[in-house]
Amino acid sequence: MGDIFVLAEHRQGELREVTLEMLGKGRELAKQMGGSLKAVLLGHGVDAFAGELADQAHEVLVVDDERLENFNSELYQKVLVSLLADRKPTLALIGHTACGMDLAPSLAAELNLPLATDCIGFEFEDGRLLAIREVYGGKLQANVSFGESEQYMATVRQAAFPIQELEPLGGQIVAVDSPLTEEAKRKKFIEYVEAAVGDVDITQSDIVVAVGRGIKEQENLEIVEKLAEAVGGVLAGSRPVIDAGWLPPDRQVGQSGKTVKPKLYIAVGISGASQHMSGMKASDTIVAINKDPGAPIFNVATYGIVDDLFKVVPVLTEQLSGG
Ligand SMILES: Cc1cc2nc3c(=O)[nH]c(=O)nc-3n(C[C@H](O)[C@H](O)[C@H](O)COP(=O)(O)OP(=O)(O)OC[C@H]3O[C@@H](n4cnc5c(N)ncnc54)[C@H](O)[C@@H]3O)c2cc1C
Repeated sequence: MGDIFVLAEHRQGELREVTLEMLGKGRELAKQMGGSLKAVLLGHGVDAFAGELADQAHEVLVVDDERLENFNSELYQKVLVSLLADRKPTLALIGHTACGMDLAPSLAAELNLPLATDCIGFEFEDGRLLAIREVYGGKLQANVSFGESEQYMATVRQAAFPIQELEPLGGQIVAVDSPLTEEAKRKKFIEYVEAAVGDVDITQSDIVVAVGRGIKEQENLEIVEKLAEAVGGVLAGSRPVIDAGWLPPDRQVGQSGKTVKPKLYIAVGISGASQHMSGMKASDTIVAINKDPGAPIFNVATYGIVDDLFKVVPVLTEQLSGG
């Protein structure tokens, strides 16, 4: 009773960050509920991941089966139905990723469990789960309260929770027999197709300088490009800049673009719509330049400069270039 399960997501030999984000939040919830936190790891030859997860959970339940080498929602569902029905965790968290979206609704339907998707917050109130979700394209937040149930399920938005440096839990690694007896019937893994990455991968840079509609015209991009050069960063943009064709689509930051977590994010002429901020708010340091003091970007900025970008950016560039 009170146990929290977190489904570990991994792809091509890497544990995905959403797993660690969920484990951080899961630890808090398990404490609140007086239960234990369990990472659930499905795969084949995944000992290294199990070791990594053991620091972040009280227990790591590992189902090793060669049929689980690559994600397949049909097989994952079979294994998880068996694990969740046997062990009855109060809450099972799954990443709101392409894999999680494929898996969670069908799993919840088979187990007849309440499910909230794309959640950005959770708490328990009198043993009942409350989840926070964004509605109307992120303009409002809805607190969702569940009907009474012994078990709940939720998918968790990526980067909704930080990866925390927490005291290692030294969890026990427990091998669980695979309940699979046959290959998947309806779905088959064929191959990974890497998304095309342009000349620059903005998710890999320590410094991102992003430009928004405040730049007004494509010709003006040059001043922000110079700033990016001066700080050794890459140039990215908000959606209007991409939609206008001023920067390629792989430079878009936000909900329908890329999620970045650089050491430094400089937002130039960006208002800070929730769809933009969901892709950059986990950056270590955020500097916002905007002439409107009420712009929402200042709510997440570490440093804010309220002024005309056409005045500020050239001066900043000059100073940073040692001019
Ligand atoms: C389903 C959905 C998905 C979306 N996905 C994304 C996404 O992935 N990424 C994304 O970015 N958006 C996304 N959006 C769009 C989002 O809602 C906003 O419309 C967008 O982020 C606004 O971009 P912006 O801040 O550049 O422009 P605006 O909101 O127009 O802001 C421009 C800012 O520039 C400032 N400014 C103007 N002139 C100057 C000046 N001279 N000096 C200083 N500041 C100045 C203004 O004060 C203003 O704050 C999405 C929307 C939807 C509905």
